[in-house]
Amino acid sequence: MTDLKDTDILVIGAGPGGLRVAIEAGKLGAKVTIVDKKQEIGVPKRCAEGLGGGWFKRLGMEPDPKWAVWEINNARVFSPNGKEIKIGKNQYGYVLERKMFEKYLASEAIRKGAKIKLKTESLSVIKEGSQVVGAKVNEMGDEYEIRAKVVIACDGVDSRMARSAGLDTTNKLVDMDSGFQYEMANIRLGDKHALEMYFGTDIAPRGYIWIFPKGEDVANVGIGIGGNSEKTAKYYLDKWIAKDPRFKDASPIEINAGGIPVGGIMDNMVLDGFMVVGDAAHQVNPMDGGGIALAQEAGIIAAQTAVEAIEKGDLSADFLSKYNRIWLNQRGNQLKKVWKVRQFFEVLSNDDMDFIAEKLGMGEDLLDFAFGNNWFTFAKLFVERPGLFKSMKAFL
Ligand SMILES: Cc1cc2nc3c(=O)[nH]c(=O)nc-3n(C[C@H](O)[C@H](O)[C@H](O)COP(=O)(O)OP(=O)(O)OC[C@H]3O[C@@H](n4cnc5c(N)ncnc54)[C@H](O)[C@@H]3O)c2cc1C
Repeated sequence: MTDLKDTDILVIGAGPGGLRVAIEAGKLGAKVTIVDKKQEIGVPKRCAEGLGGGWFKRLGMEPDPKWAVWEINNARVFSPNGKEIKIGKNQYGYVLERKMFEKYLASEAIRKGAKIKLKTESLSVIKEGSQVVGAKVNEMGDEYEIRAKVVIACDGVDSRMARSAGLDTTNKLVDMDSGFQYEMANIRLGDKHALEMYFGTDIAPRGYIWIFPKGEDVANVGIGIGGNSEKTAKYYLDKWIAKDPRFKDASPIEINAGGIPVGGIMDNMVLDGFMVVGDAAHQVNPMDGGGIALAQEAGIIAAQTAVEAIEKGDLSADFLSKYNRIWLNQRGNQLKKVWKVRQFFEVLSNDDMDFIAEKLGMGEDLLDFAFGNNWFTFAKLFVERPGLFKSMKAFL
């Protein structure tokens, strides 16, 4: 117990970001304590559980059928009038059983030496001058301090720890999506290994509806919409499900809801003795809302920087800002471009979306564009629609 109150790295939040920090820092020999206010790792899930195949190698893991439960080999995008853009059969990835995935990550972290304290909420960070030196926690009614050389806040979209340390991570409402999802059974799925996405201003304002299959007749069926939408995400999703005969005999087995920070990529994520990772640092793809992999990618960089700082005895923000630089070069600057593309997509009318769907032969171009590349192909496409061309120019 005393041992846990004095650690090299204190990780606040045992989601994918925090657990990956612990695995990486443990590998490098650091003593890590993780606190999470929940009583069970991975529960409740607030996620559609999709993970692109390319991430496994990048994160140094193999898909395990215990948690990578359903293979995806196709993606289908539908415009408001129902026209399908075929993204292609080479889209490989998995739908996870995220509870099992996070328990796998937690077990790996423990094997690398981390100690996890559940039902332990971090109340605020402790500072000595400008230096963050730990956090005050409440473990089932017992309040005490945990001292650490570096504190890494991985406390998700509702993060309070960065602000308690003096780092403003507040997101504008316009940079937040509202997500709502049913995991449903007994759906009459067509292509059982295809992700499906449905667009339209009246279907999902500023967002889309998804079907992510995770079994023969089971899928995560959800919606993400702009946080400033007139009606709730549930309202739009229920309305859409009611019209689709594939759901006639289906029913939910789980409800998942949560905010998704889709904008506001931060340039600075450190203070003296303090770093922030994952949703808490808005490290989410603004286009698809995915953050499971990005939180882990950032977690690896943060852990490596923190361990190096400890070894060098320099816990200053100046040293820790190496994390900012590496992450922005490796991922953040690309995500800034994706945010611009998203802003362009947000102003499209249903008619514009139908036009794009009609003109595009295959969706590879769309995918490329959505990730901030290949603007030239679209510029050529929009010559026929000067309005679209102008607004693309304005955003990009
Ligand atoms: C509806 C929906 C669908 C989504 N679908 C996908 C998808 O298909 N693919 C994808 O990649 N991403 C998806 N995401 C996003 C993804 O879930 C997040 O980006 C990801 O969970 C971020 O991981 P994280 O570790 O930063 O935070 P989290 O997973 O949120 O973990 C934060 C942890 O911190 C703990 N915590 C918070 N405050 C404290 C405190 N004060 N003290 C102690 N513990 C604390 C919480 O209990 C939690 O365990 C979706 C999100 C939503 C809402």
